[in-house]
Amino acid sequence: MLSVVIPVFNEQDVLPLLIPRLRAVLGQLDHEVFFVDDGSTDATAAVLSDLLDPWPEAKVLRLARNSGQQVALTAGLDRASGDWVVTMDADLQDPPELILEMLTIAEQQHVDVVYAARGDRSSDPRFKRATAGLYYRLVERLTGVPIVPQAGDFRLLSAAVVRALRALPERKRVYRLLIPMLGFDSAVVHHRRAVRAAGETSYTLRRMVLLASDSVVSFSSTPLRFATGLGLLTACISGVTALWVVLVKLTGNAVPGWASSTLGVLFLGTVQLLCLGVLGEYIGRIYDEVKARPPYRMRGEEKRACPHCGAVNPAKSPEGTPTP
Ligand code: UDP
Ligand code: MG
Repeated sequence: MLSVVIPVFNEQDVLPLLIPRLRAVLGQLDHEVFFVDDGSTDATAAVLSDLLDPWPEAKVLRLARNSGQQVALTAGLDRASGDWVVTMDADLQDPPELILEMLTIAEQQHVDVVYAARGDRSSDPRFKRATAGLYYRLVERLTGVPIVPQAGDFRLLSAAVVRALRALPERKRVYRLLIPMLGFDSAVVHHRRAVRAAGETSYTLRRMVLLASDSVVSFSSTPLRFATGLGLLTACISGVTALWVVLVKLTGNAVPGWASSTLGVLFLGTVQLLCLGVLGEYIGRIYDEVKARPPYRMRGEEKRACPHCGAVNPAKSPEGTPTP
C-alpha cells in the first residue's frame, strides 16, 4: 500500500487542480492520502471536504494552528501505514505523475528512499534559486550531512524509514537532513520544477531564514564553537597588546592606572570568552544526548518484504548486487 502525505496551508486555489491529477495517478494503486491542513485560514477546509467526499481513501488531518510544513509532515508520517510513503507539496510544483516512477526505481534498485531533485529550477524566481542554492551549500558545509542538492520535501520512503523517523524522540525536525542522516540506501530522480499551479508561496524570506537556522542548529555545534574561536583570537591579540602596554609602562609614558586597567580588561575579556566556549562544548554534548539520535544503524536491520518476490529484507549483498 502507498500512503501520500501532503501538508496544506491556505491552498484553496490549488486543491481543485491537485486532487483530480493525484487521484488519476493513485487510481491504479492500493493507497491512502493524508491532507494535513496546517491551520489554514482561507477556505481550504471547506474545499477539502467538498472535493474529498467521493474519495474515501483520502483523509484530512487538521492541526489546531499553523505549525509549519515540517510539523505538518510529522503529523502525516505518524499516521501513514503504507509499505511506501510519499511526501509532497500541494501546489503541483511536485508532479504527482512522478510517484509511479519513484516506486519503480525503489523496487528495481532495492532502495528505501527516492528523492525527487529539481534538476531544472528555471521556473523559480531568481531570488528563490539564489537563496535555495546558498541554503544547500551552507547547510552541507556546516552540518556535514550529505544532503541531496535541490531535493525538497518530495520523496518516497519505505515503511522502514518511516519507522526509524518515528522512533526519533526529537521534535524540531528538518526532514531533508534527518532522512539522509539515517543512512538508508537511496536513489535520486530528477524532474523539472513546475511553477506553482495557483495561489502564492507561504515561504517568505523570514521563514526561509528560520528553516536554514533550524537546519544548521539541529545538526551542528559550529555556532556554539564561535565563542571558543573568538576567545582564541582575543587571546592572541591580548598577548601582543599586553606586551605593548608593559613596554609603554616601563618607558614611563603611561598615565597612572592605565596599564593595570588595560591589562585587567584584556585578561578578563579573554578568560570570559574561553569559558563561554567551554560551556558551549558541554551544552553541545547535552543537546546531542537530548536529541537521542541513534549513533549508528546496522545495514538491513529493518526487515521488509520485497513487493515483487515476497523475500524478506532484499538488502544488497556485499558486492552490491541485490540478493534474490
Ligand atoms: N505549507 C504548510 N505550512 C506552512 C507553509 C507551507 O503546510 O506553514 C505547505 C504548503 O501548503 C505547500 C508546502 O508546504 O504544500 C510548500 O509550501 P510553498 O509551496 O509555499 O513553498 P515553496 O514551494 O515556495 O518553497
Ligand atoms: Mg511550492
